[in-house]
Amino acid sequence: QSVPVVIIGAGPAGLTLGNILRAASVDCVVLETESREFIEQRPRAGFIEEWAVRALQERGLAERLVQRAQAQGECEFRVDGERHRFRYAELTGDRHFVYPQPLLVTDLVREYADVRGGDIRFGVRDVALHGLDGDRPSVLYTDPETGERRRVDCEFVAGCDGARGVTRTSVPQEHGSLARYDYGVGWLALLAEAPPSSDCVVFGIHPNGFAAHMARSPEVTRYYLEVRPGEDPENWPDARVWSELRTRLSVAGAPALTEGRLIEKRVLDMHSYVVEPMTYGRLFLAGDAAHLVAPIAAKGMNLALHDALLLADAFVAHCTAGDDSGLNAYSGASLRRVWEYQEFSQWLAELLHGPSSGDAYRAGSAGARLRRILGSPAAATTFANSYIGKGVAR
Ligand code: FAD
Repeated sequence: QSVPVVIIGAGPAGLTLGNILRAASVDCVVLETESREFIEQRPRAGFIEEWAVRALQERGLAERLVQRAQAQGECEFRVDGERHRFRYAELTGDRHFVYPQPLLVTDLVREYADVRGGDIRFGVRDVALHGLDGDRPSVLYTDPETGERRRVDCEFVAGCDGARGVTRTSVPQEHGSLARYDYGVGWLALLAEAPPSSDCVVFGIHPNGFAAHMARSPEVTRYYLEVRPGEDPENWPDARVWSELRTRLSVAGAPALTEGRLIEKRVLDMHSYVVEPMTYGRLFLAGDAAHLVAPIAAKGMNLALHDALLLADAFVAHCTAGDDSGLNAYSGASLRRVWEYQEFSQWLAELLHGPSSGDAYRAGSAGARLRRILGSPAAATTFANSYIGKGVAR
């Protein structure tokens, strides 16, 4: 079999790319190691920036999202027993759309496979890439039903297989660089079967450690608690989790947290990385396969969508008009937004983690950061633009 593009991975990046290629009649095959049921339920992100929603909408990929998502344009900092509302939509005109990643993935799979008739193969094993530095690469995988090795020849491979995929590791080490940053903290990521306790994202800044509240749906809320990196989630029985969330998030005048069954509890060691360049021969990396951004500012899925949009247009221009300018510019154009978001996440992380670092200098600096965005209109606008992903320098 031969197609112009093989896409490895059916996350937000791979499925958005596949959908746009289908709409432009560029043939592609999507290979995914997990089952359809699994990817339609895997919980993760939930906040999509308005520019990304509008871009999906323009491609006919956001109908259900726009109907069902709640839009939020404010967040709240809770510190020293006080609440500080930050109204970023008033400053930027843009909001976040609260839409759980599994719902977005479900919509994108349905549109790709059931509506646009796209070819997607679930449960594949042992994906291997060959000939990336030539002009006719191929992808091999094991068919889950027959156990046979299958091969697809192509012009391009899109590496959309996330942080633990194979495509990044197919790039020879000497070809580029991997920049890595370790935040030195863990986050206990929690999903509670409980309605949100606030109408916006809440950042709790506390000497015990940072905590956050983020809506996912009317029935489910995501919470985070800063913990030691590598900490065992078993050390956090439900009663301790709720007690600590109350300590770190409660302030006078705020409604009490609505508690519920905890359906996810895992520790994320907060780190980020960036692969540069994001291409190697005929391989184009996109999303978490190319860059991980710790979920401090809810940026990862937005970057994955940005890559997919850029890469799709570049493949379409090549395949339909012989125009390679988009492919040549892809890595540089993507990395500008990636580095903006990395730097912003690091800046915000220090504001959130400084006060619990045990270091008086970091705590003092973090306080100054917060006072600046709450007190200076110019600083507030800069922060708001970064928070909602607007105005990325070209
Ligand atoms: P993925 O979603 O990881 O998709 C990759 C796909 O490739 C998967 O389906 C995987 O099964 C498949 N795969 C892996 N290996 C192979 C292989 N060898 N062959 C074939 N297929 C393979 N981002 C935000 O923007 N906002 C948020 O609010 C937010 N919150 C988050 C909260 C948590 C707890 C976490 C962990 C992440 C969060 N993120 C958030 C980040 C976001 O989830 C990721 O950035 C996003 O999933 C990246 O999409 P992707 O398509 O690049 O990769």
